[in-house]
Amino acid sequence: MPVNSRKMVINPNYCSQADGVTSKEIRYIAQEKISFIQILGEGAFGRVYLGTVDYLTREEPTTMVAVKTLKDIDHDEAWHNFTREVQLLANLSHDNIVRFYGVSIDSDPPMMVFEYMELGDLNNFLRNRSPDLVVYDSNGKPFEILSCSQLLNISVQVACGMEYLASQHFVHRDLATRNCLVGGPLVVKIGDFGMSRDVYSTDYYRVGKNTMLPIRWMPPESILHRKFTAESDVWSFGVLLWEVFTYGRQPWYESSNIEVIQHVTCGRRLVKPDACPQDIYHLMQGCWAHEPENRTLMKTIYKHLSVMMRNEPEYLEVIE
Ligand code: AMP
Repeated sequence: MPVNSRKMVINPNYCSQADGVTSKEIRYIAQEKISFIQILGEGAFGRVYLGTVDYLTREEPTTMVAVKTLKDIDHDEAWHNFTREVQLLANLSHDNIVRFYGVSIDSDPPMMVFEYMELGDLNNFLRNRSPDLVVYDSNGKPFEILSCSQLLNISVQVACGMEYLASQHFVHRDLATRNCLVGGPLVVKIGDFGMSRDVYSTDYYRVGKNTMLPIRWMPPESILHRKFTAESDVWSFGVLLWEVFTYGRQPWYESSNIEVIQHVTCGRRLVKPDACPQDIYHLMQGCWAHEPENRTLMKTIYKHLSVMMRNEPEYLEVIE
């Protein structure tokens, strides 16, 4: 009998026995408690809005939130992805993972409610603060160029979030700066766990009718055999480091998708960005070993980056 996705309801008592871990309860937020302020962007599932919810947390009477709506809910796959993401998100809790407050399923379309990260996605954040271009904020003031130590700080925070995900046996599959969010003062969180994007569609390679692959962030085994593991996340983290130290450039921006596949599978690697210290480029190279088992572990990367940040004054003297 065909399944009618519209009639499927997320079971709040749903328990996943994967890895022996029981799922946390999913919080339901009544639609009338959510007020919309403006559109923030367009994502995999649909529009993302800035909004508020009253009495969401104990800390404040009204909380600013980002509300993700689910478009195309007649589509079974969209509904499946929505429920899957909700169940995964309810189980994640870390300072460098965007906080998930709950879902509203009495609304049409259904919505997911997240903490609001006021500085938006990390890719835009980096591009606006690059030395290559002066960009002005809404008050006509130029954004400040990010220093090397701020780039390092951003990298450490993403590494910390990724180490947590790896410790939870969670494979992200789509780590990139466009999927991280920034809040003040320079707090960075991994913020997106869906797979296909609309806004950054040029970052994805269409395979067949429905599959979009972020091949510029993918290692050879993911490109050739669609194998995604903790080690393929490490490769993507190396590419994210490259994005951070190029102030948000697209990896292999001078090559077509087909050329990127050829480069990566033939052993070519992204070159060291100008603003990148040699030690950090070494870390990137450790992420890009051809064999997954030869790649540096996420916890080792995090440790190295943290040491670099702690020893920063001394370290920056050496690299400048
Ligand atoms: P996504 O569906 O996560 O790809 O989101 C699309 C866009 O909405 C992002 O590129 C951000 O600009 C914005 N956005 C998503 N989530 C948030 C959030 N929690 N806080 C602020 N902006 C967000």
